[in-house]
Amino acid sequence: MGEAKRQMRARTLVVHAGERRPAPTGVPAATPVYATTTFTYDTAREMDEVFADERRGYVYTRYGNPTVAALEEAIRLLEDGAGACAFSSGMAALHASLLACGLAPGATVLASRDLYGATSALLRSLFGQLGVETVFADFSETDALARTVRRLRPRVLVAETISNPLLKVSDLEACAQLAHEVGARLLVDNTFATPYLCQPLAQGADVVVHSATKYLGGHGDVTGGVAVTKTEADCQALSGVSRLAGGILGVWEAHEILRGLKTLAVRVERQCANAQALAERLKGHARLSRVFYPTLAQDARTQAVVRRTLREPFGGALVTLELREATREAAFRFMDGLRLCVRSTSLGDVFTGVLHPATASHREVAPEARRELGITDGVLRISVGLEDVSDIIADVEQALAA
Ligand code: PLP
Repeated sequence: MGEAKRQMRARTLVVHAGERRPAPTGVPAATPVYATTTFTYDTAREMDEVFADERRGYVYTRYGNPTVAALEEAIRLLEDGAGACAFSSGMAALHASLLACGLAPGATVLASRDLYGATSALLRSLFGQLGVETVFADFSETDALARTVRRLRPRVLVAETISNPLLKVSDLEACAQLAHEVGARLLVDNTFATPYLCQPLAQGADVVVHSATKYLGGHGDVTGGVAVTKTEADCQALSGVSRLAGGILGVWEAHEILRGLKTLAVRVERQCANAQALAERLKGHARLSRVFYPTLAQDARTQAVVRRTLREPFGGALVTLELREATREAAFRFMDGLRLCVRSTSLGDVFTGVLHPATASHREVAPEARRELGITDGVLRISVGLEDVSDIIADVEQALAA
């Protein structure tokens, strides 16, 4: 500041002192948090060129921010897509991705009937109000699905790699083929699988969405979402929606998710191993009528889909149980009996969390519809964490015994 500083008064100094220093000569080893809403340039002309996309740069954080861009680039690489856009939550990412797919009045969406409850509600309510009709179908019945796709000619198919809470693995290649046959897009929510276990774009999907609140962040302390597109043009459409709708990810959240991402592979490998061991131990337990875990599937077709879709030998880090006494009271008794596992609605955290879908994730689904989906009051979903697996097993077994 030199001479200028001497002339400035304290009121001015407190506003400007220490700011806008030249970029450091060393490149920071970890991405700094660019906690700034705007970016300044030496001349108005340079700024105008950035606004006009004639020069690379940042002008306003809602349009782009280096910390958020670092996270977007990391997820883009993990999903092997053309572009990525980060959002303030998984739901914001889903909402923007559906809009970017060009949903307009009169369009039809064909969605898996096993989708996360809020995604189904988003399609039914917000997109329903806009005149978009959503038809829900069983995506595991590929022949029936093919007939529905050809009859409805939807604009978008929406699937989840691993469904919630019954952990059905979608045949993404088959879904993509069907979608493309009628010129539709396939949007895949890959939250449960993570890009470490599955890359839906490589299996034919057009857009992949994550709730980064789950495994990508991984520590239960940050909410965010990301969408990755197969084409550059789709990413342009997505960032267009993001700029206008404004559901962007904050810089601090981007920093935390970037940090969580560093350990994604080690966390997911350990969590999958723990989940596999828990599922195998509980299979055939006298107090349980069913144990759901992708690699425990008996029939050859399902096994083939699991092998084709998920990175071998992993089956994901969620295990779902159904109590033989399939009542809410029995489910609550089980949950209250847990001493180590946490009663929590989220998943993908470092700790083991247990959820009762009928009163949490699928609370808004009518009881009859829940029963049709196979989600009885005795169903419990366990998001397996990083603890010693013997301690997890011991806790679940003692709660079942109680
Ligand atoms: N997709 C799936 C599969 C989820 O389980 C969730 C939340 O539980 C979401 C999307 C929404 O994510 P968020 O809570 O980050 O908006």
